[in-house]
Amino acid sequence: MDPQELTHATISNGWFREVSDESFPGQALELRVKKILYTGKSAFQDILVFESTDYGNVLVLDGIIQVSERDEFAYQEMITHIPLLSHPDPKRVLVIGGGDGGVLREVLKHPGVEELILVEIDATVIELSKKYLPNMSKSFDDPRVKVELCDGFKYLQENSKRFDVIITDSSDPDGPAAVFYEKNYFQLLHECLSDRGIVIMQASENIWLKISLLQRLKELMKQVFPVVEYCYTMVPTYTSGQLGLMICSKDETLDLKTPTRTMPNEDELFKYYNADIHKSSFVLPTWAKKYLK
Ligand code: SAM
Repeated sequence: MDPQELTHATISNGWFREVSDESFPGQALELRVKKILYTGKSAFQDILVFESTDYGNVLVLDGIIQVSERDEFAYQEMITHIPLLSHPDPKRVLVIGGGDGGVLREVLKHPGVEELILVEIDATVIELSKKYLPNMSKSFDDPRVKVELCDGFKYLQENSKRFDVIITDSSDPDGPAAVFYEKNYFQLLHECLSDRGIVIMQASENIWLKISLLQRLKELMKQVFPVVEYCYTMVPTYTSGQLGLMICSKDETLDLKTPTRTMPNEDELFKYYNADIHKSSFVLPTWAKKYLK
């Protein structure tokens, strides 16, 4: 799609409109646009960055909102601190996707982390984040961070390291991230984890949108990991206001629903995450609980 077409397809009368009949049938989310900052097409996806009137700068890939400056911490903190604070002593962390840099920023709040690798397929996302999302991308220069520009699936296939936590911070399954929603990806993750390792992934859906996809993911993950749980975070700029996260552990004795550790001054370090919200993010309404059992 050419950049002009993209702009016309998704922005009209000063409003950005997120439409996906596949992922969000019969509903659409809109944000008012102040200024278009970038439209283009990388080798992997259509990219749009715009300044919104009320949510700061917004990154959109293939027509789907990835992050907004105003509410990004709700996503970045939960996908990071739930696994890191469930693990007794995480030292090596791998992030797959995550080109905006927000998850890196959160992982680096853990002083025990010695090695942090980010595998992003699209260098353009990193460049644009450095320019338009400075609060998220400021951690790329930290000496503990190593960036690999390649496909996350391929990276895992060729990797010989073992990680304590692996975070799949990818886009939705319609584009280059489709490989992350299949059983052979979960098998690769399992192989690349240390004995007490934890993986977490953005599940692309939530209980209101496509609970059948969550059920399928959970079943596939259960074939590979002894412990599989669903939790969620509240993000107003994701359609229906919430995003599901699937979290798995190799260690069947680990209780992912309760933090095993706390950090000093959590109230200053985190804007969204705390021990109570960690626990409550696993609590589901009755119908969803039955469905995902
Ligand atoms: N927080 C976001 C969300 O849930 O909507 C995800 C944001 S992050 C920007 C997603 C990143 O995953 C994108 O930068 C995209 O380029 C990257 N990505 C998609 N497929 C990938 C793959 N196969 N390997 C590595 N990175 C990938």
